[in-house]
Amino acid sequence: MTDELKARVEKTIKNLKRNNMDAYFCENAEEARELVKTLIKKGDTITNGGSATLKQTGVYDIISSSDYNYLDRSREGITREEVEEIYLKAFRADAFFTSANAITENGELYNVDGNSNRVAAILYGPKSVVVVAGVNKIVKDIDEAIYRVKTIAAPQNTVRLNLDTYCNKTGKCVSLQKDNPELCDGCHSAGRVCCNYVVSAQQRHVGRIKVIIIGEEYGY
Ligand code: SF4
Repeated sequence: MTDELKARVEKTIKNLKRNNMDAYFCENAEEARELVKTLIKKGDTITNGGSATLKQTGVYDIISSSDYNYLDRSREGITREEVEEIYLKAFRADAFFTSANAITENGELYNVDGNSNRVAAILYGPKSVVVVAGVNKIVKDIDEAIYRVKTIAAPQNTVRLNLDTYCNKTGKCVSLQKDNPELCDGCHSAGRVCCNYVVSAQQRHVGRIKVIIIGEEYGY
C-alpha cells in the first residue's frame, strides 16, 4: 500500500472506533481469517449477507464450517420459504457476516440493498455484525459512497445476479444522466437493487459492529 492509502486506512479506523465500532486492519486475507476465528466461538449461530468479499477472502469457508451452527441460505434444493425463514433467524444469530458497499474516512458504513435482509441485520438483531472489506471500499465521504454504489457496486451486482437494469448494460446508474442526481434517483426496473439506503454512523451498542479492513482489493 502507498503511504497515502495507509494514512486513509488509519483515519478510517480511528473514526470507525470513534463511532463505537471495533475496527481492525489486516495486511491480507490470511490475517483476516485468523482474526475472524477470534471474533466467534465454536457452536455460534452464524449467517451472512450476500458478499463476493466473504467468498474471495475464504472467510465464508470458516463460518460455514462444521465448527459453527451455520444457517445456509444457499444450500442446494432450499425452498424460498426456507430462505425467508433463515432471513428471520438471522435476527437471533450470534454473528452476522457481510461486507460493505463503502466505508467512509469519517467512519461510516454505507450499504444499499434490494431484498434488504442484509441491511436489516446490520441495523438490528444479530448480537455481533462482522464487516469484512478490502481497501477498495474506502471512500472520502458519503457523496463518494453514493457515487461508488451507482458506478461500481450496483452495476456489478446486477451483472452477478443477472438482473435486467440500465446499469447492468451500461456500467453506471441511469440517474447519472442528470448533472446532480439525488441519492434515491434510479431506474424503475423490477430488478432494481437500490431500494434501501443505509448509513451506519455512531452506534449505540458499543462494539456490536466489527469492521475488518484488508490491505488488498476484494468484492465490488
Ligand atoms: S437504481 Fe437501477 S440503474 Fe441505478 S444503480 Fe440501482 S439498479 Fe442500477
